[in-house]
Amino acid sequence: MRPLWKLDQTLPAGSPFDPGTRHDVVIVGAGLTGLSTAVMLARAGLDVAVIESGEVAELASGGNTGKLSLLQGKQLATIRRHHSASLVQAYVDANRAGMDWLLGFADSAGVPYTRRTDHTYAQGADGMTAVNDQHAAAREAGLSTRLLHQHELSTPFPAAGAVALDDQVTIDPVAVAHALAAELLASGGTLHTGIRVTGAHALPDPRVETTAGPMFAEHIVLATGTPILDRGLYFSKVQGMRSYCVSFQVSGGVPEGTFISADSPTRSIRPVSTADGPGRTAQLVVGGNGHPVGRSDGETAAIEDLISWTRLHFPDAEETHRWSAQDYQSHNLIPFVGALPRGLGHIRLATGYAKWGLSNAPAAALRLTEEIIGTRRSERPSWMIRIGTRLTVPADLARGAVEGGKVAAAATKGWVEAESRPVPVRQPDEGEGVVANRGGRPVAISTVDGVTRAVSAVCTHLGGVLDWNDAECTWDCPLHASRFAADGTRIEGPALRDLDEIPRVAEG
Ligand SMILES: Cc1cc2nc3c(=O)[nH]c(=O)nc-3n(C[C@H](O)[C@H](O)[C@H](O)COP(=O)(O)OP(=O)(O)OC[C@H]3O[C@@H](n4cnc5c(N)ncnc54)[C@H](O)[C@@H]3O)c2cc1C
Repeated sequence: MRPLWKLDQTLPAGSPFDPGTRHDVVIVGAGLTGLSTAVMLARAGLDVAVIESGEVAELASGGNTGKLSLLQGKQLATIRRHHSASLVQAYVDANRAGMDWLLGFADSAGVPYTRRTDHTYAQGADGMTAVNDQHAAAREAGLSTRLLHQHELSTPFPAAGAVALDDQVTIDPVAVAHALAAELLASGGTLHTGIRVTGAHALPDPRVETTAGPMFAEHIVLATGTPILDRGLYFSKVQGMRSYCVSFQVSGGVPEGTFISADSPTRSIRPVSTADGPGRTAQLVVGGNGHPVGRSDGETAAIEDLISWTRLHFPDAEETHRWSAQDYQSHNLIPFVGALPRGLGHIRLATGYAKWGLSNAPAAALRLTEEIIGTRRSERPSWMIRIGTRLTVPADLARGAVEGGKVAAAATKGWVEAESRPVPVRQPDEGEGVVANRGGRPVAISTVDGVTRAVSAVCTHLGGVLDWNDAECTWDCPLHASRFAADGTRIEGPALRDLDEIPRVAEG
């Protein structure tokens, strides 16, 4: 599966990797966080290297829906329910700063975007409470939202009402990432793709270890989605949420605005137009059906459900592409950005954008840049100070405890289920995977592209038993969202090592 945005993009050529080189800053991850931080630091005159295990915009940054909005579904009301109005205000101001920066960059780099009205809508009457709450939280934070009643919404899908914010944006996220990479390279920075960082150390000399050797830097930024170091236990303070997108050719016209439902199941609607970039045609992207990584009743079923819903309301919709990606939600609802504990001020991280990274990532980059270049606190914008000094409230702890319980339950369930299925097992059909028990150890057996493989089913992070993702044909961890390819290669998440290969355990 490959996102619509990636099909006609030429990849930026990476830089050769010279082990042992020294830079002012090494950034791990070439998504929106890593690349916008790299460009800001390069503009400030620093020597920056970016190391990426895949390609530019490999994961969430290349697979998102491309909505750049301050309305953000019901995010503001959710934060407001547990935190003060001043923290919601700081969150909105941070996102406005991130959005302004990204659009300024897009203007200078010639990346097109379209201004649209964004809506958080209720699919039924029950969803109106969430819509009203979002409207109240947005107005309190100074956003000019409007409430729209059913008769004012001429959507082809059911909508009982909505809160709307004009002048928001749709943009091609991969075009943005590629333009950021191009500016970094043009300014003398380096970009090393296809190289995995396997560790980062503050002592004795701050450095990252990679599959191609070490690289040294005064500052290291982990822009890896979720941090790849366990220090600070961020893997347990965020939840990895996987979600789906399908793009369609629709001859009968698509809505002008963008929409996301406040009630379940999530429906996210995003039009694409010829103004969205060279080669673009009028299309519709429908997203939603998110769930915690590795905890799903069927990933392909989630996509098929989005397709059925779209065909019901856009009868001539023809699927063109389907894809999925994951992002991380912080238990205290505000992204974690800043110095990693015991990183001695050399190692920083950014995570927890809850699927609103187009503005949260550049906002995090603005903050990381101020910290790295050493701006005095008194000179920083007030939103940075307010977010940086927020307190954890009881509801945050409760959210973390509930998720901790689910993690523990998933851990037990995986081991118990594996035990009940001793090897040898029937060879899985094409696209299928099964976890079996071999001498007390869970083994992951799958068949992909005609090849049946067996690898350890135990996540190399904290030992969760992996779950088969039938849409991506990957092994996903229900504990902290690490993912591995069918051959055991680590794709993403806090795990750093591949899965071990296991000798033949299936019967053909
Ligand atoms: C389905 C979906 C739809 C979304 N839609 C929207 C939207 O419409 N609007 C919006 O604002 N946000 C949206 N988001 C959220 C947004 O995409 C993310 O918040 C944002 O892309 C996160 O950027 P990032 O750079 O922090 O992480 P990523 O894009 O995940 O980048 C992390 C990078 O680090 C690399 N990496 C990881 N580990 C290593 C390692 N060990 N060594 C080297 N490299 C490594 C990865 O390969 C990856 O390229 C959506 C998210 C999803 C999942």
